[in-house]
Amino acid sequence: MSQPELSYSDTHCHLILPQFNTDRLQVIERAIEVGVRRILVPGIDIETSRKAVALAASHEHVYAAVGLHPHQASEWSPQYQQEIMALAEEPKVVAIGEIGLDYHRTLSPPEKQRKAFRDQLRIASNFGLPVVIHNREAIDPLLEDLEDWVSDSSTSQMTSTGVLHAYSSGVDPAILAAELGFYFGVAGPITYKNAHERRNITSTLPLDRLLIETDSPYMPPHPFRGKRNEPRYVELVAKQLSQTFDLDLQSLVKTTFLNAARLFGWSHDD
Ligand SMILES: [Zn+2]
Repeated sequence: MSQPELSYSDTHCHLILPQFNTDRLQVIERAIEVGVRRILVPGIDIETSRKAVALAASHEHVYAAVGLHPHQASEWSPQYQQEIMALAEEPKVVAIGEIGLDYHRTLSPPEKQRKAFRDQLRIASNFGLPVVIHNREAIDPLLEDLEDWVSDSSTSQMTSTGVLHAYSSGVDPAILAAELGFYFGVAGPITYKNAHERRNITSTLPLDRLLIETDSPYMPPHPFRGKRNEPRYVELVAKQLSQTFDLDLQSLVKTTFLNAARLFGWSHDD
């Protein structure tokens, strides 16, 4: 089989969730066939973080992030923190995540979410790792915590601070986040017919901070809405982005591939 021309990274893909239990390896193979060369699998709790680390260890194209998602932040404890720190030492762990704040569903109390978030930011700077951030309806407190974190002396040594995944929060918060050294993940919803506002916001983001992602199994791009998302569909996100930025597909894909390599510190060789 001939090599695909373009190399993609799917920078946010929940391959360890049960939705992939029957065909996980085939899903990875299908992604590789279309040129996906790096897949970052974030954990959402201890169990999924462990599984992400194990999958990364057994598959050369897969990398892991470890962390506790804001939905489960009530579970945060000193012991939990120890376990996340132990996992952060594993090879191929390139970030702490997915962490953040979610005031839309508020499945954990906001004060618990912020405590878990701040503690995990500190873990990231202790290990010199970037963070993968989830945000829903919490951009103001989130940026407040990120500003504090970035101004902390141990974080200011870091070259890349993290990514706001599936970014849709608006133009002004993006300017501040970019100043704080953050990247922006763009996912499937940018392909939806009525996503004009999302495309407008996205078009203002700095090109050298853009990452592409699928957030599989969630948020499938058009025309797969309602189906299970897969990392190979990252090419549909890239196609839409190349239009949004009025940039040829090859340049867009190459730029986002290099951006991801810079942030996560993995090789940028195809
Ligand atoms: Zn996610």
